[in-house]
Amino acid sequence: MKKTYRFYMVDDDPITIQVMTRILTKQNHTVFSSLSSSEAVAEILRLKPDCILLDIMMPEMDGIQLCHQLRKHKSLAKAKIVMVTSKFFESDRERAHNAGADGYILKPVDPDRLADQLVRIIEDGIELTFWGVRGTLPVPGKRAVRYGGNTNCVSLSFSKGQLFIFDAGTGIKELSDHLMRENPKMFNAKIFISHPHWDHINALPFFAPLYMHGNNFEICGPSQSQISIGDILSGQMDGIHFPIQIKEFGANIQFRDLTEGPIDTDGIEVRAMLLNHPGHCLGYRVQYKTRSVCYITDNELLPESSPHYDANYVEKLTRFVYKTDALITDATYTDEEYEGKMFWGHSSLSRVAALADNARVKQLFLIHHDPDQTDKDIDAKLKLTRAALRRMKSPVRCIAPREKQVFVL
Ligand SMILES: [Zn+2]
Ligand SMILES: [Zn+2]
Repeated sequence: MKKTYRFYMVDDDPITIQVMTRILTKQNHTVFSSLSSSEAVAEILRLKPDCILLDIMMPEMDGIQLCHQLRKHKSLAKAKIVMVTSKFFESDRERAHNAGADGYILKPVDPDRLADQLVRIIEDGIELTFWGVRGTLPVPGKRAVRYGGNTNCVSLSFSKGQLFIFDAGTGIKELSDHLMRENPKMFNAKIFISHPHWDHINALPFFAPLYMHGNNFEICGPSQSQISIGDILSGQMDGIHFPIQIKEFGANIQFRDLTEGPIDTDGIEVRAMLLNHPGHCLGYRVQYKTRSVCYITDNELLPESSPHYDANYVEKLTRFVYKTDALITDATYTDEEYEGKMFWGHSSLSRVAALADNARVKQLFLIHHDPDQTDKDIDAKLKLTRAALRRMKSPVRCIAPREKQVFVL
């Protein structure tokens, strides 16, 4: 059963109140409302709703002033405040967040999505979406209908609108299409590149929001020897490998070279760790309030019998992903396939299962499937990993995510 919540709405337009009340009560939520911003305060303090919805342009006190005032009351500390407004200006969005708003929804609201959007803000989860789950090479055609054929790209979105993107394999084109459809206006995002092998960067030039003025992006990743991440990514857009050069991007783009350690990112904790893969390859851990996600690819976990097995590395990685809600990781080969692919920089299923169990992660997501594997092969990989976890009596939940599949953590 879905949880239901108590809302309080302040809007000077009775039709908006009527429409939104109908949408929310249909989903069994309770809605109180007021047409007057000055009269609403006392009632909100008395009713202590879970979520307060405020219009911005109202006579008497505008929505942002009202938000400011409500945030002074300790008894409302747990209540979420969401602006529901037709003001699309970035400066208004910023003012609202500075006044303590937890969300900002533009009018006209989408009747099919409004209740879900508000529940997401109230529950304040991380929305994890897979846009490409294949490794090495995209896989077109019948072999890759169910899991999709695009290479690595995963996004995390947070209720205040921050967007983190991990890798720019061909899956980023799907994300680009989605963003252009949903919100072609201005937005900001951070793109974290694990490492610059083709399957992690070569669709960056197809990410349309990078060409749009007013958008802001920070593209972060490890440098390689003395070559910065900015130079590496510019190098694949030099007019020879790709017709458009990176200087033709219209958005404001900052590049940042990363090494191991904490990364300063407005309010959301991100840490990086070097992985066992040729060149510099970084895994990331994102911590948001009580929840966390780890993106660990590409990475080879050697069997203990290997002369190159490094117990310190395994222990360090185990600590890095310890008790995470979602470990998204390189599970390229079955144990059988791995026999012939040792030292290629990728992991086998049993090693990945052991890491997830030892680190007591909650959910294990298998990605970076080998291009020769079909949908059925991926089904079989999922079964094998679950069987390995069962043998260890592990409570870890294992998933082989499909392209465009969304998880709320
Ligand atoms: Zn790869
Ligand atoms: Zn690689």
